[in-house]
Order: sequence, then structure tokens, then C-alpha cells
Amino acid sequence: GAGDDGATDDPSYRIKGRKAWISHAGHADYYTTFARTSDDRGRGISCFIVPGDAPGLSFGAPEKKMGLHCDTVREVIYEDVPVDAARRIGDEGQGMPIALAALDAGRLGIAAAATGLAQSALDVAVAYAKEREQFGRAIASNQGLAFLIADLEAAVLGARAAYLFAARLKDAGRPYGKEAAVAKLLATDAAMRVTTDAIQVLGGAGYTQDFPVERYFREAKVTQIFEGTNQIQRLVISRHALG
Ligand SMILES: Cc1cc2nc3c(=O)[nH]c(=O)nc-3n(C[C@H](O)[C@H](O)[C@H](O)COP(=O)(O)OP(=O)(O)OC[C@H]3O[C@@H](n4cnc5c(N)ncnc54)[C@H](O)[C@@H]3O)c2cc1C
Repeated sequence: GAGDDGATDDPSYRIKGRKAWISHAGHADYYTTFARTSDDRGRGISCFIVPGDAPGLSFGAPEKKMGLHCDTVREVIYEDVPVDAARRIGDEGQGMPIALAALDAGRLGIAAAATGLAQSALDVAVAYAKEREQFGRAIASNQGLAFLIADLEAAVLGARAAYLFAARLKDAGRPYGKEAAVAKLLATDAAMRVTTDAIQVLGGAGYTQDFPVERYFREAKVTQIFEGTNQIQRLVISRHALG
């Protein structure tokens, strides 16, 4: 007896378990949930859309994070949450390929966001280097600092090229998993480096909250961690490379 929203009084599944580190937990209308439906290892996982107001769904305390203060991250707790078969995405047992495909696309998004973050930090550093004077001239006129800016430009351009290359493959409907992992690795490492060095360009001012670079630096760190850590990206890339 499915209702208008696809839910029934006779749920086909009851989901039990917990998942840490869920962004927007407690705010989201729906939770994409991967749950084990058989013991068949990688082929025993299925994907579901669980409504945020489902009975038995609750949330842990918000994590006290270094950055991303606009976003709540909490554990999601499932206590025998009833889910109708109409809310299953794909066939039973297809959850793993669905999760891996979602990660490929997610990594592309993180790579693009990390590139933008790095570009913002670079823009602040360039503007400051041209304006700030020490010993009677702009700090940018010191080759030691100008070459640092050159390296940051190269890091941002490289990151941008890597994610656009992967995105074009995706748009063309071609495989892009390896390229998305490479883009995520390069762009997020670039973001960490550029935001770190942008603070250096600003000197003491960079270490204060008067300028945005200390926040960019804190935001950059998580991009090396979520959507698969950069160690895991190397695992993905090496498997593609070595078969
Ligand atoms: C702010 C934030 C938001 C998040 N949002 C979400 C979300 O919405 N949904 C979601 O599902 N998850 C989310 N996550 C979880 C995130 O994807 C994980 O934190 C991340 O994948 C790392 O897993 P872990 O924290 O368990 O680290 P661990 O797996 O414990 O790793 C610890 C260290 O060991 C290394 N390591 C582990 N295994 C290997 C290996 N095989 N080879 C080499 N090194 C290894 C890791 O690279 C890392 O350096 C979020 C995390 C954060 C911090």
C-alpha cells in the first residue's frame, strides 16, 4: 500500500546502525544511506533515500571543527528505521558501485572548490604584496617573494587544469575516475600549500583574523581529508595505473 510519497505502512526494510561525519546532519530533508542487505561482501550493500523525519532516525552532537563553521557535521543514528522498497536506489546489492560513482563526482566538486579556495588566497597575497612597503619599497619587488608568488600561480593553474580535464571527460560521458582522483589530490594539496604560503606573504598580518587567509588555511585542511583522504586518492590512482 504505497502512499503518494512512496512510503507504506508495511516497510520492506528496517535500517539499524550509525554513520559518523555526516555533513548537514539534522538539517537535511533526505539521507543517502548505504546499508547491508546480505552477507555477500561488496555485493551485499544497497542504497536508500531515508527521509529526515523517519521514525528511529536521530543525530549525535555536532563536531567541534577547525573550520567549515557554516556546516554542521554529526553522527546519524538509525534505530530500526522503516524504509520502503520504493526508497531503494537501484537494485538490491548495487550500493557499492553507486557509492563509488558518487565519490568520483564528489571528488571533482572538491577539486573545483579547492582550486577556488587556492585562487582566493593567492588573490589576497598578490594584492597585499603590491601594497605593503618595507624598507622603502613594495615587498613584491623582492625576487624572493615574487618567485614564491610565481610558484603559487603555477600550483593554482595546475589544479585548475587537472579538474577541468577530468570534468571534460565526465561531460563527454567517458571514464574519469582516475582523473577525478588525480584532480582531488593535486587541487587539495595545492590549496593547502597556497593558503599556507599566502599567510607567509602577509607576514604577521596573515596570522590574524583581520585578513581572510587564516580562515582559508583552516578550510583548506579538510579538503585533503574528506571525500577520501589523499592517501586513499593515491590508492585509487595506483589501482587505475597498475590494474
Ligand atoms: C568536515 C567533514 C565532513 C564530512 N562529511 C561527510 C559526509 O557528509 N558523509 C560521509 O560519509 N563522510 C563525511 N566525512 C568523513 C570523511 O570522508 C572521512 O573523515 C574521511 O574519509 C577519512 O576517514 P576517517 O576520518 O575514518 O579516517 P581514517 O580512515 O581513520 O584515516 C586516518 C588516517 O589513516 C590513513 N589511512 C587509512 N587507511 C589507509 C590506507 N589504506 N592506506 C594509507 N593510509 C590510510 C588516512 O589517509 C588518514 O591519514 C566528513 C569528514 C569531515 C572532517
